[in-house]
Amino acid sequence: MTGWQRLLNDNGGLDTEGLKKCACDGFDTYQVYPNSIHRLQDALIFIARHDGQKALIIIGDNPSTSSFVGSEISTIPGGAKVCPLDVANSRALFAAFPFTRPQTQKGRTLSIGLGDRLGLAAPGHLSAIRGYDVFPVLAQQSIRELNLTGRTYEEVLAAAAWGVFQEGYTKGYGADGDHLKTRQEISYALRCGYTRITLDCSDHIKNSVLSFSPEEIERQYQALSADVRSHYEAKYLNKAIPLDDSTIVQFSSGGFYKRVLLYHEAIQFMVDIYRELIEPMSDKPDFEISIDETLTETSPEDHFFVAAELLDANVVFDSMAPRFCGRFEKGIDYIGSAVEFDKTLQVHLKIARKLGYRISVHSGSDKFSIFPYIGKYAEGIYHLKTAGTHWLEALRVVSRYEPSFFRRIFSYALEHLDEARSYYSISADITKIPDVNKVADSQLPTFLEEEPSRQVLHITYGLLLTAKNSDGSYTFKDELYKFLYEHESQYDATVDEHLKRHMNSLGIVK
Ligand SMILES: [Zn+2]
Repeated sequence: MTGWQRLLNDNGGLDTEGLKKCACDGFDTYQVYPNSIHRLQDALIFIARHDGQKALIIIGDNPSTSSFVGSEISTIPGGAKVCPLDVANSRALFAAFPFTRPQTQKGRTLSIGLGDRLGLAAPGHLSAIRGYDVFPVLAQQSIRELNLTGRTYEEVLAAAAWGVFQEGYTKGYGADGDHLKTRQEISYALRCGYTRITLDCSDHIKNSVLSFSPEEIERQYQALSADVRSHYEAKYLNKAIPLDDSTIVQFSSGGFYKRVLLYHEAIQFMVDIYRELIEPMSDKPDFEISIDETLTETSPEDHFFVAAELLDANVVFDSMAPRFCGRFEKGIDYIGSAVEFDKTLQVHLKIARKLGYRISVHSGSDKFSIFPYIGKYAEGIYHLKTAGTHWLEALRVVSRYEPSFFRRIFSYALEHLDEARSYYSISADITKIPDVNKVADSQLPTFLEEEPSRQVLHITYGLLLTAKNSDGSYTFKDELYKFLYEHESQYDATVDEHLKRHMNSLGIVK
């Protein structure tokens, strides 16, 4: 008899709350996730560990549960169905339990983009934010992350939805099509029900201008139409715009042509995308403008210029991600002057406040040295994106409980680092990494804390998850998922702890 059958056997007469309590107290025996126990008309429905994987169990099939597809077990009184937690069943879940569908911000001011490259982190994320006034964007992937992990937007969203159902989290969550660059990518995310679109404008920001001579800049500026030039000049040239009593954004003539050339095409692109794809929707997604993936820091003047142009074109957007000073490398703390960051952050926040949207901080995982500034000055009105750090937390659990597996993973990652470096830039000095095969088991979690080894693992996730042996089997993927299934409570607790560390550092209180 499986655990969940025993739960029903022992406690069949109980109501939902009674069952939840038994499932909670006897989780090791029953293997039923207590907060996933729901009723749908007279059917009982819950998630349980079944035959080495999680499944949705439906007892007493009725018309409201007929769209879930699974294998029938006729020996259970009233009938039972065991359904895989897949994309098709997630659609049935959205219809039956609307709280599992992603939502927009709806006026909530503080949100964290969580991302989950394995599709297993949602329970840990939800346990960390429970009780805090934080809107979680559980599904958050860029097309690059999808390609590197071989996943689809439907799969990423389904993983989040199953986590939400498992935890019985009814306060709502978001799904972010992150760093989307084309109409096709945006349409794809919207079709899949994503509620947040992060428009990456980097292909349209004319970075070549940065290497132009003053004469070339002048020549290209004069080549813009007279209408365009007079539009920008009338609005900004030699204008001083006060943000508050102490801060002014000053558009002097120096650098003005360069700014126009740098952003003119990108602004046009943002306006076009908004008008074509976002504005016509009756249920509009949260729209984020990302200008962070550029070669240079976004100055306050650049930021104001882009945002003011968008607002004048009636583009409604929730947030903007400027490129801050310093370096935001993946999975490690901020590199640069925290004091300088603090100063520019305050100006960016003032601009956003004046113009009416939120600041979004990207690559925000593990930036503990600057979190206190964000917490102090953003007044609880911002969006912070974290992502791959939750993948590293999975490897932290591996390093604790399966040292030899961890060493194999790390060795492969190091060997294939150059491939990953072609799409992620890191400054890790790998010559400083000790030989993982000579590190004692007990020291492996500390080894993972060191910045170079952390970065190596952070950016090679795609290679690790897709690597195959000569017989076509996965080198690491299946073993990793099996390990994390067996160490689920440790993984949930690790994710919870790591995310709480972020929130504490940000000064987010209950
Ligand atoms: Zn970004």
